[in-house]
Amino acid sequence: MREVFVRFTCAVAALSILFAGPALSQDRDEDGDRWSLAIHGGAGTIARQNMTSEQDAAYRVALQQALDAGAAVLREGGDALDAVEAVIVLLEDDPKFNAGRGAVFTWDGGHELDASIMDGRNRDAGAVAGVTGIRHPIRLARLVMTDSPHVMLAGEGAEEFAAQHDLETVSPDWFDTDFRREALERMKARELSALDVDVKFGTVGAVALDRNGNLAAGTSTGGMTGKRWGRVGDAPIIGAGTYADNRSCAVSATGWGEYFIRVGVAHEICSEIRQMRVAEQVDCAGTGEDVVFRECWSVPEIEADEVQAIADAVMEDVQHLGGDGGVIVVSPEGHAIFSFNTAGMYRGRATGSGVNEVAIYGDE
Ligand code: ASP
Repeated sequence: MREVFVRFTCAVAALSILFAGPALSQDRDEDGDRWSLAIHGGAGTIARQNMTSEQDAAYRVALQQALDAGAAVLREGGDALDAVEAVIVLLEDDPKFNAGRGAVFTWDGGHELDASIMDGRNRDAGAVAGVTGIRHPIRLARLVMTDSPHVMLAGEGAEEFAAQHDLETVSPDWFDTDFRREALERMKARELSALDVDVKFGTVGAVALDRNGNLAAGTSTGGMTGKRWGRVGDAPIIGAGTYADNRSCAVSATGWGEYFIRVGVAHEICSEIRQMRVAEQVDCAGTGEDVVFRECWSVPEIEADEVQAIADAVMEDVQHLGGDGGVIVVSPEGHAIFSFNTAGMYRGRATGSGVNEVAIYGDE
């Protein structure tokens, strides 16, 4: 089936891109360009019966606003990195999510924020871990990428670097919310493990494909309620919580970070997609006739259900080890997919072809 599709695609490519078939055209806008965006606001035990209709509506409004902000950047021809940052900055300011304001409390009653961002063009990446007074950790992660020779800065050093670049700082209590403080108190009273799955959700992330064909990914989090000893999760680990490579995909993850680090979730998904493309390139070069067309299609297209199957398989691997959570993925074709093994995931997606939706529960 794949072979037929690729060969057909190769054969018609020389005539016109419009003959390229449904999987190729579905994410293009009226100018024939593709752009695509997927966002998340965390995965976890998010069930209808635990949400009031007001809470449900408030989350959907917040997700829609963030989606709209990122989509506006992409629609106007802006950069995938700018779209990712626009989404995450909004969600970091929203106390409903576990990133920036509204971050979970550490065991000692503070906040230690992690974030990362990656540019699919050249695989430049930046990350920060354990920062306590930076209003927008995603902006600091981007500065690490663009203005330092490093990929990851942690703790006081990261704050010092932020100060040298005049990044906005806030008092650590700016991140406080009653809701998250109660979660810490409940956890301590019930002597739950710091890794208890029920208190872990709200991390935010975005993945984007811009009209120039560039991918980007970003993730920001307060980590897990009651974390201590300088614990760092997957969100700032390039290849675990965040990855972007124009040759394959962009991924942002949320969930039980230790498992996502062990599986290398974000890189694993992109790596499998890249290998699938390479395999198809070999197919394309199978006959003398196809070699000509291979030059037109040096990066073969893959279909949405193939991206979905790869993401699902990697999430099954996480589950097999005992972990839970979810991912958002955007491919170079503009396929925007979700995969999660929790009851729900705050999420949304928008594409140049008019897809525009937000969702919360697993059954929608
Ligand atoms: N993955 C984050 C962490 O382990 C938490 C989350 O996504 O909710 O720090």
